[in-house]
Amino acid sequence: MKKIVFLTGAGISAESGIPTFRGAIDGLWENHNVEEVATAKAIKEHPDIVYKFINELRNKYKDCKPNSAHKAIADLEKDYDVTVITQNIDNLHEQAGSSKVIHLHGDLSKVRAIGTSYEVLFDYPEEGIAPASEINGFKVRPHIVLFGEDVPNIAKAIPVIKQADICVVIGTSFNVYPAAGLIQYVDINNPIYYIDPNPAYTPGYPDIKVIKATATKGMEELVKELRNK
Ligand code: NAD
Repeated sequence: MKKIVFLTGAGISAESGIPTFRGAIDGLWENHNVEEVATAKAIKEHPDIVYKFINELRNKYKDCKPNSAHKAIADLEKDYDVTVITQNIDNLHEQAGSSKVIHLHGDLSKVRAIGTSYEVLFDYPEEGIAPASEINGFKVRPHIVLFGEDVPNIAKAIPVIKQADICVVIGTSFNVYPAAGLIQYVDINNPIYYIDPNPAYTPGYPDIKVIKATATKGMEELVKELRNK
């Protein structure tokens, strides 16, 4: 089977009701100052505020459902070896049925033990968590990569993207590194598609095939194009 790697950003979940990060360029997301609620510095200096913000985020979006773009990606597993590398902290790809998903920035449905050398994850408790919360004797924090924190899964993503026969980028503004740099690892002979209604300027990639559309419409076009090949 040919290998397709999808690189997805906040845009793929916009039609599921989760807003993108665009406003964060001006420092605001969900009416919060990003510097205060989503950075490595913030979680050290005022962890209560950060945990409270993430608890609220989790509650607000926990009932969102995958849209037809997430489902189309999962359906392609019938004909392709599909891996999804996502910047998203929602788990809509998994809910849609994708079996190989690498989360670069964590997963809002999980909390992680602090101070362990290996990853210990638990389901996010209904009642939320505070900086002192413990589960099974472990102190826990949201399983999210904040701005300024390491992105350990980039090491898993690079070999996967190098192997891609086809790469499809959906709904990202190419603003957040190291995720934004991943397409440089796609073999130069292999196609890159980019689905976004407001695509970013990508001068370094003259052959990139831009599908200027929302994720759901763009995936319909892509699936047709793949069938015709
Ligand atoms: P971004 O907000 O910077 O860019 C979003 C992109 O999605 C834009 O290019 C925009 O044109 C596009 N877009 C908007 N509506 C779309 C649609 N219906 N279909 C397809 N594309 C659409 O997002 P980013 O580049 O992913 O970076 C922001 C970071 O914030 C991410 O790395 C992620 O960690 C985090 N984030 C995650 C979620 C989520 O989990 N759903 C939501 C917001 C932000």
